[in-house]
Amino acid sequence: MPTPIQTHLSTPLPRPPGYRGRFAPSPTGALHFGSLVTALASYLDARAAGGAWLVRIDDLDRTREVAGARDAILTALEAHGLLWDETPVVQSTRTERYADWLQRLAPATYSCSCSRRDLDGLTGRYPGTCRSGLAAGAQARAIRVCVPAGPVEIHDRIQGPCRQDVQAAVGDFVIRRADGPFAYQFSAVIDDAEAGITDIVRGADLLESTPRQQVLQQLLGLPVPRHAHLPLAVDASGRKLSKQSQSMPIDNARPAEGLHHALQFLGQSVAPDLMGAGPRQLLPWAIAHWNIEAVPRSGTRPAPAPSLPSH
Ligand code: GLU
Repeated sequence: MPTPIQTHLSTPLPRPPGYRGRFAPSPTGALHFGSLVTALASYLDARAAGGAWLVRIDDLDRTREVAGARDAILTALEAHGLLWDETPVVQSTRTERYADWLQRLAPATYSCSCSRRDLDGLTGRYPGTCRSGLAAGAQARAIRVCVPAGPVEIHDRIQGPCRQDVQAAVGDFVIRRADGPFAYQFSAVIDDAEAGITDIVRGADLLESTPRQQVLQQLLGLPVPRHAHLPLAVDASGRKLSKQSQSMPIDNARPAEGLHHALQFLGQSVAPDLMGAGPRQLLPWAIAHWNIEAVPRSGTRPAPAPSLPSH
């Protein structure tokens, strides 16, 4: 049976000094309110710390990709004044890097022949069926990582302390899918490490992924970034917004409006004299006044606009 590797890499990755943050959209559609909130918060947190802010395009799941979405997202960021440093990393160009890291993790991985049908009816935790080898004649499909037992602790800057025993809750999870692509959990960990990301600010829907990512970071001897998981938009009665209203596209011709609403959602009280301001005045102010303590753990999306001037 493969034993999880605990050793650190012999050649540690060079760590750039200072804060490095990122926004990592999947090109599954135009930038919408929820993703503007994520982009803005990660941008403000980076800039307030005097750090770098990078963009990565998570396009490994080709079946979910929408033609033109990548450019539309970048255009929308620019229209809102959210200008990134460094050339955006595109995950689909990085397969060789992932394969290289998979080699290093090999002692702690195994092939799995289970089909979706085999796993039907299970509670969501993989029971380790293929951990001790494939049944005779079985065909290798996905690659899974051996997850050590025991809790993983996270100290989220917004959601507070969280812990999960990944082995008990999820089991050995997939890092390379049966249909070929590397899984998000794995590619994100590799990309964050290679880009020297120190801080991850993203939506709370990804909080449940964080312990799995931390397991991979520990197995590979990679630094664990700090995390801040932003509130998910809920309606006035506290219910999670429907996909449709959460994914209402934002208007590039009215960036001030989108930014004001996003700041409001993030609990940042905009000075009244800036109510009509556009990105060029608003963003420097928002960087100077960024207060992550004021970000609520869950949030209400502001009602669509009493119109603000476009800039
Ligand atoms: N691409 C992921 C998404 O759009 C986000 C990945 C991340 O921030 O780690 O949901």
